[in-house]
Amino acid sequence: MDQITHWINGAPDISKPNRTGNIYNPASGKCTKSVAFADAATIDRAVDAATVAFTTWRHSSLTRRTQVLFAFRELMQQNKEKIAALITDEHGKVLSDAAGEVTRGLEVVEFACGIPHLLKGAFSEEVSSGVDVYSIRQGIGPVAIISPFNFPAMVPMWFFPVAIACGNTVVLKPSEKDPSASMFMAQLWRQAGLPQGVFNVVHGDKEAVDALLVHPGIKSISFVGSTAIARYVYETGTQAGKRVQALGGAKNHMVVLPDADLELAADAAVNAGFGSAGERCMAISVIVAVEPIGNALVARIKSRMANIKIGDGSQNPDMGPLVTAAHRDKVASYIAAGAQEGATLVVDGRELKITGDGFFLGPTLLDHITPEMSVYNDEIFGPVLSVIRVNSYDEALALVNGHQYGNGTAIFTNDGGAARRYQNEVEVGMVGINVPIPVPMAYYSFGGWKNSLFGDSHAHGIEGVHFFTRGKVVTSRWLDPSHGGINLGFPQND
Ligand code: NAD
Repeated sequence: MDQITHWINGAPDISKPNRTGNIYNPASGKCTKSVAFADAATIDRAVDAATVAFTTWRHSSLTRRTQVLFAFRELMQQNKEKIAALITDEHGKVLSDAAGEVTRGLEVVEFACGIPHLLKGAFSEEVSSGVDVYSIRQGIGPVAIISPFNFPAMVPMWFFPVAIACGNTVVLKPSEKDPSASMFMAQLWRQAGLPQGVFNVVHGDKEAVDALLVHPGIKSISFVGSTAIARYVYETGTQAGKRVQALGGAKNHMVVLPDADLELAADAAVNAGFGSAGERCMAISVIVAVEPIGNALVARIKSRMANIKIGDGSQNPDMGPLVTAAHRDKVASYIAAGAQEGATLVVDGRELKITGDGFFLGPTLLDHITPEMSVYNDEIFGPVLSVIRVNSYDEALALVNGHQYGNGTAIFTNDGGAARRYQNEVEVGMVGINVPIPVPMAYYSFGGWKNSLFGDSHAHGIEGVHFFTRGKVVTSRWLDPSHGGINLGFPQND
């Protein structure tokens, strides 16, 4: 069985771990690899390597940083299929979707290649006699990135290209469920010419995360995961004096107005609800049908669901298994709860027949859900689409704004005025207009509102550059030979 270990100071870590975890192939249900779990001493070694590397990497020229980023981008592009296969093997998502996440992550690398422009400051000449003022931004030091299972390549790439481009060094703690993509990327960084210690990977669970959160050598934490852990990471990290951005869970509503194109809306609902088996933080999980279109929309979604092909992700069907048996069972328990609480079970994914021990669950459609139900309030994070019916735009808006999460949302309509009103009034960080999964491009920033984000900074884009740098303003005067005399007064700036 393959043993996955940490990557510290440009090489695999050879120390024997005190604890390890199992990695499964979700399509077969078999344990295929084991992964080392870091303790505090391992975290110390990774942070030490990052600290030493920072002393030289922060002084590397912008030209050199850009060259390394370009080289990494090329290597990632060449190895996309291999990385996708690793992801499918441990996560379960279909190959084309795994390759897609690498592509979206690479867009952040491409954005970071523009770092010479992104770090440009302002310059004001002659603010007072012979005095100039200018601003610069500098890296902050070793930074930690803690990522979830659902995007093992893309989510780390939301952060580390920008962090490294800004002159920082990185300790990445990927999900212990699918850590191989991170290890592969570490090797590609080495091939790209990144100096040792700039990019380190440690594996593990709460013990490793807790050690990072309070480590004095770590200057910032970028976390993505469930809301309870995001809140904990934010509170613990900020108490330890660190800058923290902690992205949490989601419940994304898709509002369908009566004038919408129902064929387009039904396609979008199915793609956004069941893609990656619903294990996406931007997945649509609630359809808000503004009557009278409820019945017509549900019928269209149901008929499309019958055509979804489910199987081993490596064979590229439409939908693969869920990540673990425990997660599959948790999602199934929500289907049972929804039915028990009074929802109409239009399609029951538990009835899926598939041979073998894989962690499969079919797509599910629940209709007539109400705001009191657990299927409405909780993030389910599986292939379960729920329909809630309302009578007006205002009722739909009140529902979305009243929900604890505010990650993504979409509105489907042909009325530009209604769409514009929604974009203005909705309390959600990322909004799609006739676009079901409005993930921002790399040069914008990704992040939600309310319980979907703790902290002030969203990921990548200019907010990412600011998160990974500190501003400094310099006021300078070079004395000319005519200068002389003492003046204790405040400058007159004339
Ligand atoms: P998770 O919260 O279980 O784990 C995330 C990370 O935290 C992992 O690295 C894990 O090892 C670590 N962790 C787990 N338990 C911990 C604990 N008690 N103390 C400290 N660290 C702990 O999340 P997950 O199941 O891996 O991922 C799914 C979740 O991530 C969903 O809630 C999803 O919405 C969310 N997510 C959010 C976004 C976003 O942009 N907002 C993006 C992707 C995923």
